[in-house]
Amino acid sequence: MKRLKILILILITTFFIWVMVGIGIWVDVKITNWRRLSEIEDVSVNSYRTFSRFIDDIESETEWNVKIISGLRSKKKQKELLRENAKNASADKSRHVLGRAIDINLYKKNWLWRIWLKKFNSTKDWRNTGVVKISEKYGLLWGGSYRSYHDPVHFEIK
Ligand SMILES: [Zn+2]
Repeated sequence: MKRLKILILILITTFFIWVMVGIGIWVDVKITNWRRLSEIEDVSVNSYRTFSRFIDDIESETEWNVKIISGLRSKKKQKELLRENAKNASADKSRHVLGRAIDINLYKKNWLWRIWLKKFNSTKDWRNTGVVKISEKYGLLWGGSYRSYHDPVHFEIK
């Protein structure tokens, strides 16, 4: 009887933690997206509108949700990235510095956990989500189509 009580307690605690982690991730994504989009809005209302609609379409037309992992970047930040990886764009060329590009990760619920789609996933995986097709509707350039650099998380306004 005592063992059963302990088992039930463990199950309830695990479930509680699982729910809290789920809410935590959701809140983090919403706040992050909102913050990154409003930074873009400060430099370009048109970019803000395009990316907001792009994300809304992804979330309503596909089974995937969006987390913006990078939006507006300072020239300083872009120079740091260039130092880390020579394949990154220079501060003058990067669309991120102009507020015309976002990098996103995708996630969806799968039974008890989440599946994430990130930079290391193949361009095929990314295409299969339907996100690339939606980006074409907005005339966005997709980083998965670069010949020299695998960057499927990147979408920019041409
Ligand atoms: Zn990017």
